[in-house]
Amino acid sequence: MNRTMPRKLPLKLTADQSAAEFVARINYCEFCHRTNVALCCHEVARGGGCRLEARQADFARLCLCGGYEDSCHDVLHRMASQDAVAAGLALIYHSRAADFNLEAFWKLTARRWPDFQTVDRWTRRLIRPRQR
Ligand SMILES: [Zn+2]
Repeated sequence: MNRTMPRKLPLKLTADQSAAEFVARINYCEFCHRTNVALCCHEVARGGGCRLEARQADFARLCLCGGYEDSCHDVLHRMASQDAVAAGLALIYHSRAADFNLEAFWKLTARRWPDFQTVDRWTRRLIRPRQR
């Protein structure tokens, strides 16, 4: 064994560091848009062992307020999983269009779902301006 090789950081530590840097960079809740609130990294992609990768991929994570009752993070976690994924991607699309990458998301989750129409429906549902 070569002792001069740098030890690889455990994957979870790397993912946590990446998530902390992401939250510091975004610095507001991408759902309710508040700034002066505790923030956390939400993995839009979960299950199938892809959570740690999602924690490090801008196309698969959100900066949300969290750590208190009924926070945006709580709200997304309470949603049925398919709705939470589609709504999460819609929020990424709205908040950081340059980071939105459905093909990369499909590759990460090893599943061609949701399709663009589903994300678009959720975008309209979440973002539509108020009508009077
Ligand atoms: Zn929020």
